[in-house]
Amino acid sequence: MEREPALADLQVELSGVRDEGGHSFCANKYWYVRVAPRVAELVGAQCGRDDPLLRAPEAYTLAYEVLYRLLPNCRNCVCVPW
Ligand SMILES: [Zn+2]
Repeated sequence: MEREPALADLQVELSGVRDEGGHSFCANKYWYVRVAPRVAELVGAQCGRDDPLLRAPEAYTLAYEVLYRLLPNCRNCVCVPW
């Protein structure tokens, strides 16, 4: 986050995500549709940054681990039986 402040912005944003009710909520769908493409632009092997630390695959994994857990749990979606 020191090297890429946009990750801190994402942390704030995802902290505010709520399961709004309705039929179901899927954290995985939310992540892969709405968050993963943005994280992949910032860090990881696909990001094309000059900073080798940001470009490391581990940087994406770390961002995933920190950010994903901020999302509400899956509820009543296809993931739940797993
Ligand atoms: Zn799910």
